[in-house]
Amino acid sequence: MSTNKTFTMIKPDAVSDGHSGSIIKMIEAAGFRVVALKKTQLTPERAGEFYAVHKERPFYNDLCAYMSSGPIVPMILEKENAVADFRTLIGATNPANADEGTIRKLFAKSIEANAIHGSDSDENAEIEGNFFFAHTEQF
Ligand code: UDP
Ligand code: MG
Repeated sequence: MSTNKTFTMIKPDAVSDGHSGSIIKMIEAAGFRVVALKKTQLTPERAGEFYAVHKERPFYNDLCAYMSSGPIVPMILEKENAVADFRTLIGATNPANADEGTIRKLFAKSIEANAIHGSDSDENAEIEGNFFFAHTEQF
């Protein structure tokens, strides 16, 4: 994956609250192109694999339960400077600290149920995109 791609997923709270469309609209309005998209649900084991980097953290078990609690919408996105620009668009992990107008400020309910994921590096964007879309055509 080039430096122009990032990976995101709309998390279970935002999907079940009916915010997927509004969030995708914000993503496209910010200049990102949707390269791959689907609706799916993680098992707790798959969620644990996705967040393996956090397995020693106190929030890990709750996070895996939450992330497997309902459907999610994973996407691969393309834009110049995608990883950094997308982190700016979603805002801080804790919505209490997120800037006005960011996706998390608008839609997150808590530091855990914070509406959306964004990759933190080009390397992780590639790993995370392949986690969901390795055997899928990308446009
Ligand atoms: N998280 C949590 N409690 C915390 C920190 C993080 O429940 O104290 C959850 C939250 O859903 C977050 C995810 O774990 O999005 C991954 O944490 P990370 O620090 O990577 O934040 P992100 O990169 O998503 O902003
Ligand atoms: Mg992270």
